[in-house]
Amino acid sequence: MSAEKLDKSKTLFLRKKHVGPSCKIFFSQDPIKIVKAKGQYMYDENGQRYLDCINNVAHVGHCHPDVVQAGAEQMGTLNTNARFLHDNLVLYAQRLQATLPPALSVCYFVNSGSEANDLALRLARNFTGHDDIITLENAYHGHVSSLIDISPYKHHQLPDAELRPSAPSPDVYRGRYRADHPDPAAAYADDVRELIDRAHEKGRKIAAFIAESLQSCGGQVVPPAGYFQQVAAHVRRAGGVVIADEVQVGFGRVGSHFWAFQLQGADFVPDIVTMGKPIGNGHPMSCVVTTAEVAQAFASSGMEYFNTFGGNPVSCAIGLAVLDVIGKEDLQGNAVRVGQHLSDLLEALKRKHPLIGDVRGRGLFIGVELVKDRLTLTPATAEAQEVIYKLKEEKILLSADGPHRNVLKFKPPMCFTPEDAELVAAKLDPVLTGTGPAPF
Ligand code: PLP
Repeated sequence: MSAEKLDKSKTLFLRKKHVGPSCKIFFSQDPIKIVKAKGQYMYDENGQRYLDCINNVAHVGHCHPDVVQAGAEQMGTLNTNARFLHDNLVLYAQRLQATLPPALSVCYFVNSGSEANDLALRLARNFTGHDDIITLENAYHGHVSSLIDISPYKHHQLPDAELRPSAPSPDVYRGRYRADHPDPAAAYADDVRELIDRAHEKGRKIAAFIAESLQSCGGQVVPPAGYFQQVAAHVRRAGGVVIADEVQVGFGRVGSHFWAFQLQGADFVPDIVTMGKPIGNGHPMSCVVTTAEVAQAFASSGMEYFNTFGGNPVSCAIGLAVLDVIGKEDLQGNAVRVGQHLSDLLEALKRKHPLIGDVRGRGLFIGVELVKDRLTLTPATAEAQEVIYKLKEEKILLSADGPHRNVLKFKPPMCFTPEDAELVAAKLDPVLTGTGPAPF
């Protein structure tokens, strides 16, 4: 049935307890029905254009012609399941590896961020022979249920919940050690060490610490410099490995580096890196990259690993085109320049509107935390929802996340322009005036 002919009266969006008869589609939020997209814009069924500030899947821009062409051409030449070797796979693995530190030399191709993290845990548990996984508070690593630490995705009754202690989120704005702490990186890393020690006291051992290099669903959190090095030292001393989840923040989004874990410095190299979302510009594709040692242990374990679609010729052709466009259009440079411009504009709004408590981020990964009071940091959750709603009326799409859902998230396609940044700031200004506490 074509989308046009879909009988809406018989189609109910299943939302929480809202269940109707006939055909249902599960959505966690009320969706806008989109019919086409181009660059940084999406269009609804009435031809209304929206500026997309949240869709970090359309990394190099929606329906980028080079990506579309690469996928279509490959579709007409060869596509197959993952049992076969093909040139695109070899080429893509080489190109991807060239973006990573040399120690990360073995790629496993899968189809989603969740699948990548699931495999990463298997690799880690197999390599270390340990079970426990440490996550960060408010973590979201996809539907590897035991890794979720943020509501409303968290399933509290999981049998293995005890094997997954979570360490405080290294948030220097709202967390337990703030920007005025003498050494927040060491203090937060020490919290991880304590969890390791506590597990040891109960006779358990750490297989892995998994974290996003910048926490996204957790509220666009930028960990303090040196945090990951110190955590890695504690984890490795206990025989565990470090997994960097780059599903949201990889592929140049932070601008200055291709991978967000590289923000910590060249002396921090994770043992396993997982990636997804931007890798295929919307085409389902993802990857796990690890060291030869971890991969060899997996290969020698006698465990089989196979998935049908991972690294198929079309996915790899699309992935190659994405890498080409990032380079050709200098999208990392754009993320630096436009990200800085947007941050400056948002900082200017912060000076004017007390509702903005904090502006943080790197490149085109920016968070704006709304608070009712800058001293108590009382989260302005309802206000954040109101801002999103009002911006949607202005045809700008934003979302809010974090444990209190009060952090506005900017993760636009990387072709975002200075004019787009200015438009967002210009529309946000009056919206903030009409929302929350009165200005100074
Ligand atoms: N990891 C992170 C950090 C994510 O944000 C997500 C999805 O939002 C995932 C993993 C899961 O990716 P997917 O939805 O492709 O399974």
